[in-house]
Amino acid sequence: MRNKIVAGNWKMNNTLEEGVSLASEIVNIVADELKDDVKMILCPPFIHLNSVSKIIGDADKIALGAQNCNDNLKGAFTGEISVDMLKSVGVGYVILGHSERREYFGESNAFLAKKVKTVLEAGLTPIFCCGETLEIREKDEHFSFVTKQLTESLFHLSAADFQKIVIAYEPIWAIGTGVTASKEQAQEMHKNLREHIAGKYGSDVADSISILYGGSCNPKNAKDLFAQKDIDGGLIGGAALKSRDFVDIGKSY
Ligand code: PEP
Repeated sequence: MRNKIVAGNWKMNNTLEEGVSLASEIVNIVADELKDDVKMILCPPFIHLNSVSKIIGDADKIALGAQNCNDNLKGAFTGEISVDMLKSVGVGYVILGHSERREYFGESNAFLAKKVKTVLEAGLTPIFCCGETLEIREKDEHFSFVTKQLTESLFHLSAADFQKIVIAYEPIWAIGTGVTASKEQAQEMHKNLREHIAGKYGSDVADSISILYGGSCNPKNAKDLFAQKDIDGGLIGGAALKSRDFVDIGKSY
């Protein structure tokens, strides 16, 4: 059975004090309201991780994620954060390949393949993001573009390792724009991704992978999106910064 996951990417928002207060609110509401079969993941900035980890404590419906990591294990990489550092503060998930990192930091599919390997070898779970620009969609090349992202960054993995990955389909034209993919558009892409995975690893593996949708997901549209056969949850940006909205998205199954 696939896991139901709602992950919040805080991006470069909130001071430590604000982050601590947001995490505390979420942890409290989740304890009272969230169903047992849903997992919420908080992905704050690096400097919040240690404090947020303590706030999460042993709450079993919430986990901690990072927004990035370096592909090397240690050494002279000024300003970077390693997987061992993340593990040491209780991180379990790492977002990789977010479109903002691809666009502003030049992360290519091949480079992301290295990061995926580093994260998996550390025993952490990559949340691997993929998604097309509006221009690519308008040229009707979105399926081939997104499946290529998977092929080039993930298909070097063994089936056993591939099954440890969470995938997030995030059409770039829907991120932070208020324009959500329709449930039909999102379902169509998720189904396509699952078929692409089945072609490489077989349908048992494809059926076991959680594929999240991301892009202006909010408490109003989450229910329709999460009701789709191949959509297992969401990667949330803006709405993850409001405790009530974020948990309401988690309650949208
Ligand atoms: C994101 O950046 O991953 C994202 C989905 O952002 P938003 O929800 O704000 O569109």
